[in-house]
Amino acid sequence: MGMIHIILVAASMSYHVFMRPDRAYIKMVRYGVQALFLLLTVHIGYRFFAFLQHFTTPGNPFVERPHAVDAFLPIAGFMSFKYALFTGIVEPFHPAGLVMFTAIVAVSVLVKKGFCGWICPVGTLSQYVWMAGERIFGRNFRMERFTDGSFRSLKYILMAFFLLFIGFAMAPNMMLLFFISDYYMIADVKTMLFFTNISTLSLWVIGVIGILSLLYKNVWCRYLCPYGALLGLLSRWSPARIERTEQACTHCGACSRNCPSLIDVEKQEAIRSAECFGCLTCVASCPAPGALDVTITSGRRRSILHPALFPVVLLGIFYLIIGAAMMLGIWRSQIPYEEYVRVLSGM
Ligand code: SF4
Ligand code: SF4
Repeated sequence: MGMIHIILVAASMSYHVFMRPDRAYIKMVRYGVQALFLLLTVHIGYRFFAFLQHFTTPGNPFVERPHAVDAFLPIAGFMSFKYALFTGIVEPFHPAGLVMFTAIVAVSVLVKKGFCGWICPVGTLSQYVWMAGERIFGRNFRMERFTDGSFRSLKYILMAFFLLFIGFAMAPNMMLLFFISDYYMIADVKTMLFFTNISTLSLWVIGVIGILSLLYKNVWCRYLCPYGALLGLLSRWSPARIERTEQACTHCGACSRNCPSLIDVEKQEAIRSAECFGCLTCVASCPAPGALDVTITSGRRRSILHPALFPVVLLGIFYLIIGAAMMLGIWRSQIPYEEYVRVLSGM
């Protein structure tokens, strides 16, 4: 009896939260998902640090390497992706990098740049900084259109460099030479050392980006991240998008005012911008029922997706790919313990 009562209360609460006409709760759901992924990232980083300590500082117990740390090697993931496409072979040192790259690309193609808006810890930190800036200065600033456009081209230039270098210039046999090098084997360690032994120049660069992020929204994501640039371009083919219905819209402007990607939602019927990261802030802010929806278009069929289901679909695709890869044995690094002892003991 007690269990049935709990289920009924939970069902009734879910109904009141998810079916109420105002959709402000979506913002809270997203903040919660982002915070969880940020905590997960910290946890993975901590475990990887403990794993390293075992090899570099005598007396530290062995901690198993968290394979998800390969998510921080997007370039390696891209290289493995191309290598697997051309040779049918999954490189065995950082296979989780390939899996993460595939999952992130798949999410972007299917449900907008949702990885950036819901999962990426860098996007979340960036958001916390501009929110802090909003509190301190009472608002965030906006660059003049031409300056904004010019700075935005930076991330596309960086993206083009990686695409040209890895996608076209680097042949699979060149990649193989890189894959068997000690440098590649501990690419994850090098990435961690970049942050733990940070140079003065890198600290200055991060500091400047941090200060600019207090003033302007999402400076790293909007102007500099080549990964986000690629995902944004791919997301233009996504069947999921935000659509505005003119008949229901009261032109209150709340959607455009609140969009963290500075998209003028109020003036568009369908958001096709590569900057839209599916955060649903516009949908959450819209006071007019039926004016803004998440839609899924397939051929001539167009259906409305309940906004509460958007993160379910997004996380479902993400974890389905990771789960399938794990079941196929494409997740765990095959680097032997002795190799870590050889390469890391002198560091
Ligand atoms: S258009 Fe809507 S979903 Fe896209 S970034 Fe702006 S607020 Fe988020
Ligand atoms: S928030 Fe809704 S009602 Fe207001 S302008 Fe945007 S779509 Fe129209």
